[in-house]
Amino acid sequence: MQSVNASCASACSSWTSEQYGSATPAGAPILHSNKQRPEAMKYVSTRGRSPAVNFEEVVLTGLAPDGGLYVPDQLPLVSLEQLAAWQRLSYPELAFEVISLFVAGTIPAGKLRQMILDSYAGFSDPDVAPVKPLYGNQWVMQLYGGPTLAFKDFALQLLGRLLDHFLEKRQQHVAILGATSGDTGSAALEGCKQCRFVDMFILHPHNRVSEVQRRQMTSVTGDNINNIAVQGNFDDCQEIVKKAFADQGFLPAGYQLVAVNSINWARIMAQIVYYFHAGLKFVGRSAPGVSFSVPTGNFGDIYAGYLAKQMGLPVRQLVIATNRNDILHRFISSNRYHKTALEPSLSPSMDIMVSSNFERFLFDLFQQDTARVTRFVTGLGSTVQSVSEAEWARARAHFASLSVDDAETCATIQEIHARSGYLADPHTATGIRAAMVCDTDSRIPMITLGTAHPAKFAAAIEQAGLAAPALPAHMADLYQRPERCTVLPNSLDAIKQFMVERLGAR
Ligand SMILES: *Cc1c(COP(=O)(O)O)cnc(C)c1O
Repeated sequence: MQSVNASCASACSSWTSEQYGSATPAGAPILHSNKQRPEAMKYVSTRGRSPAVNFEEVVLTGLAPDGGLYVPDQLPLVSLEQLAAWQRLSYPELAFEVISLFVAGTIPAGKLRQMILDSYAGFSDPDVAPVKPLYGNQWVMQLYGGPTLAFKDFALQLLGRLLDHFLEKRQQHVAILGATSGDTGSAALEGCKQCRFVDMFILHPHNRVSEVQRRQMTSVTGDNINNIAVQGNFDDCQEIVKKAFADQGFLPAGYQLVAVNSINWARIMAQIVYYFHAGLKFVGRSAPGVSFSVPTGNFGDIYAGYLAKQMGLPVRQLVIATNRNDILHRFISSNRYHKTALEPSLSPSMDIMVSSNFERFLFDLFQQDTARVTRFVTGLGSTVQSVSEAEWARARAHFASLSVDDAETCATIQEIHARSGYLADPHTATGIRAAMVCDTDSRIPMITLGTAHPAKFAAAIEQAGLAAPALPAHMADLYQRPERCTVLPNSLDAIKQFMVERLGAR
């Protein structure tokens, strides 16, 4: 494996200050300056042509006006003492500590604590994000105990409450417009449906999401909920959303659009928490560090893991697992970053041609040279983009990678089930395969992020030769629930007109 990350050679065996004192993992320069507990963190655009904003403004927009993505201008570092103290915390308590570092000064502490408690109260496991053994040093973190059975609930349950808080304070209405290949849509609807100041418009490709995914979206009803099936594919939906964000003049006066996909910083922030949660189960107890394997599409989830490492969690390896849509694996393994045609796979939530959040990593890799970031991402038409040898080496010091095709996905579902009794969904299975292949140190726990419940992708489980699992109790009546959805042509104008009519009627 030429792409295996071998940057962390030394094994430390205990909770020592040499290891945590600098909070800087070997080969991983901290590119943000160190400042503990910032008064109110500022966020800057990866393209350098928009003013810095605070957390509230970041949550209420999505993309920066210059087309870039917001990143914190200073990454908080976590000390040895803090890490040790965090080991005793429950999931919501830990979430409060981590998230406070990023929102300090914009939300009263008591209010934030309550939002976090409410966000995770409904998760099925008391541990919220339980970590279960597979075999040897292989583990899986089950991130699908939320209402829609995928990890996206971790961020979207909180994002809905953050929006409600800020919008009530401002007495302002917004429209959420999002495209989904399945999981984001339902998690966003569940997370934001109760928001009094939000109207939701969720676009999915007509007849191209699984029946469970469709019903999870279309059975959420309310005057402020609009499910739209677009007669096109996921890229068509995303294109419509991008164009609508770029020109919001069609909206009724007073409205603005808010993004709920992982370009929204609040989603990344909420996901940093579970890397600490999993890592602290081992670090300082049974192992000097941990590794993660992450089923990757838009690079949001694994970027959160990269930030946890930069903040001071002793992370050895971060493994990017892709399906056949493998732009990230091609970059890590060959320093060639370019678009190829999107192909459907057994793990549809990872069927993405270009990973938006990779721009956030490039901002670090190019040492905040925003002009270079802009050239790299906007030049990604037909040309193949590459970075310097030194930069490529730095990228590979952070990330290993593997592309896993459908046959290997099925084989992994089967193999892991036979070996450990664990039933992996097809997304999680790509992660487990990559974890097995890329692992460089059997003494370090390798934790695959279990991103979805297998019942969500029953057809793939059956294709792997296993019986499809039943839906959990809270969704047992899913097939009886009434659905509401509007089918519209693949046309920006049709979507705009529909939105204007619906918002006008409110
Ligand atoms: C969204 C999703 C992914 C990919 O996550 P990114 O943050 O886009 O990399 C993987 N698995 C499942 C089940 C998902 O819903």
